[in-house]
Amino acid sequence: MQIRSDFDSGNIQVLDAGNPQQVRLAIRKDFASEHFQWFHFLAEGLTPGQRHGFSLVNAPQSSYKNAWSGYQAVASYDGEDWFRVPTTYDEAGLHFELTAEQTQARFAYFEPYSRARHAALLVRALALPQVALAACGSSLQGRELPLLHVRGTASAPRRIWLIAQQHPGEHMAEWFMEGLIERLERDDAELRTLLAQADLYLVPNMNPDGAFLGNLRTNAAGQDLNRAWQAPSAERSPEVLFVQRQMAAIGVDGFLDIHGDEEIPHVFTAGCEGNPGFTARLDTLEREFRQRLVACGEFQVEHGYPRDEPGQANLALACNWVGETYDCLAFTLEMPFKDHDDSPQPRTGWNGARSGRLAHAVVTVLAALAGRLR
Ligand SMILES: [Zn+2]
Repeated sequence: MQIRSDFDSGNIQVLDAGNPQQVRLAIRKDFASEHFQWFHFLAEGLTPGQRHGFSLVNAPQSSYKNAWSGYQAVASYDGEDWFRVPTTYDEAGLHFELTAEQTQARFAYFEPYSRARHAALLVRALALPQVALAACGSSLQGRELPLLHVRGTASAPRRIWLIAQQHPGEHMAEWFMEGLIERLERDDAELRTLLAQADLYLVPNMNPDGAFLGNLRTNAAGQDLNRAWQAPSAERSPEVLFVQRQMAAIGVDGFLDIHGDEEIPHVFTAGCEGNPGFTARLDTLEREFRQRLVACGEFQVEHGYPRDEPGQANLALACNWVGETYDCLAFTLEMPFKDHDDSPQPRTGWNGARSGRLAHAVVTVLAALAGRLR
C-alpha cells in the first residue's frame, strides 16, 4: 500500500505501512506551529473486499485531543462523495477502518474544500451581474485573497461582511461560502429583500496558505489569524491587515466569521457579550439573529462556548474586534467536525452540503434583520 499526502491540504506522516490491517500514521504539525489535528491522505493499492485499518498514533497529543471522542473520520473514493467510516479513539491513537470497494481511497478530518474548487467558485461568483472583485490581497506565500462585493440596490446600503476559514483546517467554512454564492445564483425574493437593504462583502478563504499546507490552525508564519485582530502585521498576518484596511475604507454594519469547532457536535454562534462596548441594542440583535436561525436552519442555542463575562472579551478575535470597532452585530458561527446532533445524519455527519444549506438559512435571517442593523 502507498500513502500519499503531497497535494493540496495533504497532511500525514507514514510510520509503518507494512501491514494493511494496521497502518501506523502520524499527523504532521502545522507549518511553523505546534498545532496539529487536520489530516488528509490518499491510500493507493487497497485490496477490494479487504478490511484496511489506519491508526493516527499521535492523536492523543493533538491540539484538541478531547475532540476525538465521538468523532468519525471521513473517506471518499472519488474525492466528491465523502462518508464517515468506523472510528475509535484510545490512548494509542485514533483508529479507523475501511473495507475497500476500490483500489484507492482518500481519508480526511473533514470533507476538504480544494484550491481548485475555490478557483472555480470565484469564477462562478464573478459571473453574477451583482458581484464584483472589490479588492484582492495577498497571503504571506503570495496566494490571492479576493474580497467580493455583492452590490445591492439600496442608495445607502448596510454593509454586511462574511469571512471564512481563518482557521485553515476548518474547511466547512468555505463550503458555507459556496452555499452563499449558490443562493446568489438562485436570486429569489428573500435574497432581493436582503439586497434591497444591504451590500455584502465576502472573503471566501482568509487563510489560503494554511489550507494548502494542510494546517489546522495557522498561516504560513505559524500565526493563528483569529488571534491577530488587535495588532495585525505585514510580517505575520497580512491576511488580517488587508481585511481590516478594506473594512476601514468601506465600513461595517454586520459581520459573520465562519468557523468549525472540533469538539462540540452542534452548530452554534459566539457573540460579543464580553465586549466593553456591548449594548442592549446589540444584545437584542444577537438574540433575534439566533432565534430566526433556529427557525430556518440546522442551528441551536443550547450548546456552545461559555459566555464571556462583561468586559472580558478577547479583542484579538475577529468577531469581538469588529463588533467593538464598528459597534455592530458580529458573530463567530461555528459548525461541527462531527455532526449536528439535533438532526444527526450518520452516513455523512456534518459535511459540505449541510454547511452550504446553513448559508442559505443565514441569508434568510439577514434579509429579515438587515434593516435594523443600525
Ligand atoms: Zn476556528
